[in-house]
Amino acid sequence: MFKTFNKCFIFLTIFILVICMLFVPIFYSNNSAYTDEYYEQLLLSGDGFFWPLPGYTYISSYFGKRESPTAGASTYHSGIDIPASNGTNIYAVESGTITFASWGAGGGYTIVLELDKFDNISVSYCHLSPNYIVNRNDYVEKGQLIAHVGPKNVYGINNNPYKDGNGNPTNGATTGCHLHLTIKVDGEAVNPLDFF
Ligand SMILES: [Zn+2]
Repeated sequence: MFKTFNKCFIFLTIFILVICMLFVPIFYSNNSAYTDEYYEQLLLSGDGFFWPLPGYTYISSYFGKRESPTAGASTYHSGIDIPASNGTNIYAVESGTITFASWGAGGGYTIVLELDKFDNISVSYCHLSPNYIVNRNDYVEKGQLIAHVGPKNVYGINNNPYKDGNGNPTNGATTGCHLHLTIKVDGEAVNPLDFF
């Protein structure tokens, strides 16, 4: 009698443990911004995004809290900064539609790409060259050339509030040539490095 009870108890304990383990990922994902099923599929598939600046892997400012590097730049960094010289090629991280290609205040000359496969994900490229090679509503393929890194100083914007130490107007809130990349899931900025 006791032996049977003991066996049942051990079996039940193992059974409950296995069931609990199955639920751990669900509890875990509910506590983060990563609840969307497409986003989870992307992470599970291991099929990452195309790096926007091939050959440029140094990140001068990571996603998250930071000290503001220049007037008008945020203390909570909504993306990552990848330094590259003026004119460097920038590529589409995924296939999708260009929904914005214009001056974007603190972002300077900006492009927004709404993804095709993951319709709740948008990607912003900031501090670009004003000589755009894509327009709003253009469809672009993953890995397609879509822009160039812009100059630090730009002179075509009326009442541009962003200026460098010499008082010259800058390409948004920036201290030098770089690509600022923001990725938003359901409108909320997340760490871009999770996608590559
Ligand atoms: Zn930035």
